[in-house]
Amino acid sequence: MKNIAILGSTGSIGTQTLEIVREQGTIRVWALVAGKNIGLLERQIREFSPVLAAVWDEEDAKKLRLRVSDLDVRIVSGMDGMIEAAVIPQAQMLVTAIVGMIGLRPTVEAIRAKKQIALANKETLVTAGHLIMPLAKEYGVPILPVDSEHSAIFQSLNGEDASRIHKILLTASGGPFRGKTKKELSGMQVEDALRHPNWSMGKKITVDSATMVNKGLEVMEAKWLFGTGLDKIQVVVQPQSVIHSMVEYIDGSIIAQLGTPDMRLPIQYALYYPKRMPLSGKRLDFYELGSITFEKPDLETFDGLRLAYEAAERGGNMPAIFNAANERAVAKFLERKISFLEITQIIHECMLHCAYVGEPDLEQVLETEQVVYEWIESRW
Ligand code: NDP
Repeated sequence: MKNIAILGSTGSIGTQTLEIVREQGTIRVWALVAGKNIGLLERQIREFSPVLAAVWDEEDAKKLRLRVSDLDVRIVSGMDGMIEAAVIPQAQMLVTAIVGMIGLRPTVEAIRAKKQIALANKETLVTAGHLIMPLAKEYGVPILPVDSEHSAIFQSLNGEDASRIHKILLTASGGPFRGKTKKELSGMQVEDALRHPNWSMGKKITVDSATMVNKGLEVMEAKWLFGTGLDKIQVVVQPQSVIHSMVEYIDGSIIAQLGTPDMRLPIQYALYYPKRMPLSGKRLDFYELGSITFEKPDLETFDGLRLAYEAAERGGNMPAIFNAANERAVAKFLERKISFLEITQIIHECMLHCAYVGEPDLEQVLETEQVVYEWIESRW
């Protein structure tokens, strides 16, 4: 029996994690953490019987306590509640399926409590990879990637020596706007950006795919996870999303991981690593697929990816500035307050104007988010 806790159980990754729990029947969920969706959280509590559940607002926690008063579950709230769930003694693994830098503190505490980390939350390594990776090493805690590309790289590295990597080939679908010009992008609406051709994901990450900022965040994540230089991470557009990423070794051999675009596969791989388990669902059929094609990313039109490389090269708190600016800009785009192209304009402005810190500690990383938010609010 595997024992886990989940941060962000009501989101896209969280619900798919619970689908695996349901399907496999060999995982026990001890704690669930959600934000606002207490209706779904209540249903999850009833089905999976955690001993602890956390929500962000104390007001929501009060409502939830009433709704589950017939059950033996403790409801907590806020950052303290989230941390309590992340370090719950019964669990050996924390699935970080929460969105945003809010996942940082609980992940740090879970590492200190020696929990294995099944990492979906990109922001953790993007903004604090320089703190998280050494901490995980110090506590002997594995960071198991859930992101499909990183899981593919992780699987392609199985049994290999990471020092023999020539380069990482990080694949990208190109998102819903692949092949479009800047002029065409200027008129794109929220509905257009949310129409991803292959993957079904949360709203924020779907918009990130449309700007290709998501790929930029993944480049930064890969750098920390696999300890490779940025010059060794090459983005390759592969529109069918069947090659989830590849590793080229020093002898020219390339190992790839392929499959249908189904997040349950990388989630399950992380949950049971190093064991492979059966999984229901559609399989890749090469006769049906016909062809797999490749393109170079258009860094001029999709400047989000270019800016991400710049932020990663600069290091320090620049990736946190990049990430926080994107988070706020995407929220404004989803609220229809700014246009699609303004998302990366805002990121660029923030990278130019927000204070740079060379070696930020956790507090400074978190402060950076606030500084960026305030700067954006004062201007847009
Ligand atoms: P969703 O928006 O679908 O879900 C986010 C989850 O976080 C929800 O459960 C939400 O709760 C919870 N949450 C948000 N704010 C708070 C808060 N203040 N306190 C407690 N819980 C909170 O996101 P995704 O599942 O799409 O993504 C999660 C992470 O995984 C992101 O970092 C993303 O980049 C990464 N990722 C996602 C992939 C995907 O396929 N979706 C693929 C690879 C990586 P509620 O809904 O109740 O408010």
